[in-house]
Amino acid sequence: MQAMSSVPSRSAAGFASVFGAEPAGLWAAPGRVNLIGEHTDYNDGFVLPFALPHRVVVAATPVTQPRWRVWSEQTGETVEFGAAEADDPGRVEGWAGYVAGVVWTLRSKGYEVPGADLAVASDVPAGAGLSSSAALESAVLTALADLGGLALPVEDRPALAQRAENDYVGMPCGIMDQSASIRAEAGHALFLDCRSLAIEQIPFDVARSGLAVLVVDTRAPHRHAGGEYASRRRACEEAAALLGVAALRDVDDLDKALASLRDDVMRRRVRHVVTENQRVLDTVDLLRAGRVREIGPLLTASHASMRDDFEITVPEVDLAVSTALAAGAYGARMTGGGFGGCVLALVDAAETERVAAAVGAAYADRGFTAPAWFAARPGAGAERIE
Ligand code: ADP
Ligand code: MG
Repeated sequence: MQAMSSVPSRSAAGFASVFGAEPAGLWAAPGRVNLIGEHTDYNDGFVLPFALPHRVVVAATPVTQPRWRVWSEQTGETVEFGAAEADDPGRVEGWAGYVAGVVWTLRSKGYEVPGADLAVASDVPAGAGLSSSAALESAVLTALADLGGLALPVEDRPALAQRAENDYVGMPCGIMDQSASIRAEAGHALFLDCRSLAIEQIPFDVARSGLAVLVVDTRAPHRHAGGEYASRRRACEEAAALLGVAALRDVDDLDKALASLRDDVMRRRVRHVVTENQRVLDTVDLLRAGRVREIGPLLTASHASMRDDFEITVPEVDLAVSTALAAGAYGARMTGGGFGGCVLALVDAAETERVAAAVGAAYADRGFTAPAWFAARPGAGAERIE
């Protein structure tokens, strides 16, 4: 069984059996959850993700020719591609496209990317909103940079990984996920200004406060997520244009802005973004002061705003939040783009299992698919581990 051995040992063992040799090294990059700051990224605003202990691990060895072979435990497939395929965005399809995208983004910026054999293992659930895609890109990028001795400053890496996903895979994601996976530090959340791309490490040592972040994967089917995302984005852009600001980040008098907008839906979209940015700033202030428990009401207010104003939650998500709160969580909210995905709740560490069980029981009552859950501690960013 997969769970019997660690992710690093599975990637190394996979490498040995597929490529018939020991890897030159192992590199790991984490998935992430966003503590607070939802749909603020494309409004030039603020986000506060932290890295999960769950990671994608890549075992790798350089080869002399410009060609890449990559195996993943998750698919059991080995995909091989050369420079011509890597240099042609979209040509390598499916999961290996994330790997080819990293090779492409580096080559197109003039870096001499070494050819390589790569074996991937992971315990970041794929497609659950925990950013397995960014973890895969970040692990591969870190491995290739080390193997090739590339002079690649860490602050430039998130944008390179994001470009792989945007322009090679064709997924228009923001820069939060790759920033968290590459730049996170254990025991900290990453405060990211999506306009300036400035980052600050904010202490978030939940364990030391006797707390835990319970992450519930609602397993709710994603409903219309793509179209709804696009329509929220459009509403924000239209509102910014009507308000005469570059982005909703720049609204500084919310009441005045709301009074000047005619459309009730648009007013609520604006109110979510503007108040959510403020909640990120308030959360950062509390964490800087070591007042971890007190962020709970901000998390819960963020959820209410996503539910009532931005309208991106679904019944499974709302039930997980209300049940966690009723079971004693300090605060709870959906995390991620919405329409399914995960919920996080700030709980006393000793209560984690009880709160999770309460959510499971509520789901059973309503006939929802049983949720998965784990307790997350802020983990480290991408690194070489062997
Ligand atoms: P998320 O990033 O929220 O997990 P995405 O849809 O953005 O969801 O990314 C999931 C995709 O990333 C998978 O469908 C697969 O193509 C790729 N992926 C993630 N983890 C792995 C892995 N361990 N092996 C191969 N592909 C993976
Ligand atoms: Mg993703």
